[in-house]
Amino acid sequence: MLTRAVITRLGCMSTKITMAPTGVLLVPNDPIIPYIEGDGIGVDIWPAARRVLDAAAAKYGRHISWKEVLAGEKAFKETGEWLPEETVEAFRDHLIGIKGPLTTPVGGGFRSLNVALRQLLDLYVCLRPVRWFAGVPSPVVHPEKVDMVIFRENTEDVYAGLELQEGTEEARRLIAFVQEEFGWTVRADSGIGIKPISETGSKRLVRAALQYAVRRHRRSVTFMHKGNIQKFTEGAFRSWGYEVARDEFSDVAVSWEDCDGQPGDKILVKDAIADITFQQVLTRPDEFDVIAATNLNGDYLSDALAAQVGGIGIAPGGNINYVTGHGVFEATHGTAPKYAGQDKVNPGSLLLSGVLMFEHFGWQEAADDIIAALERTIADKIVTYDFARLMEGAREVRCSQFADAMVERL
Ligand code: NAP
Repeated sequence: MLTRAVITRLGCMSTKITMAPTGVLLVPNDPIIPYIEGDGIGVDIWPAARRVLDAAAAKYGRHISWKEVLAGEKAFKETGEWLPEETVEAFRDHLIGIKGPLTTPVGGGFRSLNVALRQLLDLYVCLRPVRWFAGVPSPVVHPEKVDMVIFRENTEDVYAGLELQEGTEEARRLIAFVQEEFGWTVRADSGIGIKPISETGSKRLVRAALQYAVRRHRRSVTFMHKGNIQKFTEGAFRSWGYEVARDEFSDVAVSWEDCDGQPGDKILVKDAIADITFQQVLTRPDEFDVIAATNLNGDYLSDALAAQVGGIGIAPGGNINYVTGHGVFEATHGTAPKYAGQDKVNPGSLLLSGVLMFEHFGWQEAADDIIAALERTIADKIVTYDFARLMEGAREVRCSQFADAMVERL
């Protein structure tokens, strides 16, 4: 089995993160990291998150040289483009970056700037850890049992954008084609889309999930799919997943069938149909650990799980290509325009995305310190409005004050 250690090169002269030919990410103590501040509440959450990240890094003699790059409304105002080529180049060149939320331009060239960035850099994994922090208000009885990491496929499925609008000549031709070639009957007044799920896309996603499970000492990897109905897309995802586990990870992982649910000290590899997954992550959350999912299933599941542990205000995300070394870590919520510039919202999502980035670098101590500071801050009932409205006796603070409180507790 190939594992890719992510190592930190202490005392390195270079300030750019690079990828060694062996596939190891080389992170100096003073990396240059491009960032997109983000639209709307980006102006509030970015400075807050950055302050905490800088303080935690400094504790271990590290200094990040943040390099602002433009995207979204700020880019459009300054350059006339929503996603300037320079920005994509900066992410390509520096390998790792971080971003706040971006407005999706209405009627613009891109369906979504986020999707565009993922596709341009082939960031095939959407990494979404979901865990509960003591004291965070939750709608479930045992939120402490939620500790899952979603590996969502990021490049194909219905997100490939292969859709034709009802009533167009193209839709008519495709409907006629599938009727003639395959005998498929599709109503004439249908919009029609294609859902590609490839062996390449599925296997690299599952490989990344299993490698993560090995690196982070996780107990199980579950393939979430709808293969009972969509046999050659979702079902194939499941089969390819098991193939990767068997062919490349048999020394450290074993499938449920091969061990009768008793994996010993190996990682248990299993699968679950999407609909029952949604029920069981609620009723038996401790049975789920790492979850590998196709794009749409992973999208739904990420938000549903985030709701169990405090909502999108604190849900982090990373988009990663483990082969090229590229990664863009991002707040998972949107621009919340009604709160923009009010210094009000929770900076947790962007901050925890930074923590995910630190973990990806191997800066585990700094990452752990931020988590501990977050737990202490919430335990002291110092929270932003979104938590304050759900907590008894909370002290509501501004976004920047929340960052202050965290830095004090670092
Ligand atoms: P949104 O910006 O995520 O906001 C929806 C609601 O979520 C807010 O009204 C607020 O709830 C809550 N929320 C979001 N961020 C929060 C934070 N940091 N702290 C506390 N609460 C937070 O979703 P939207 O209004 O549907 O989308 C607005 C714009 O964002 C659109 O242009 C959309 O395309 C874009 N978007 C971008 C991304 C991205 O860049 N990754 C993702 C999603 C949407 P309350 O009102 O209950 O307080």
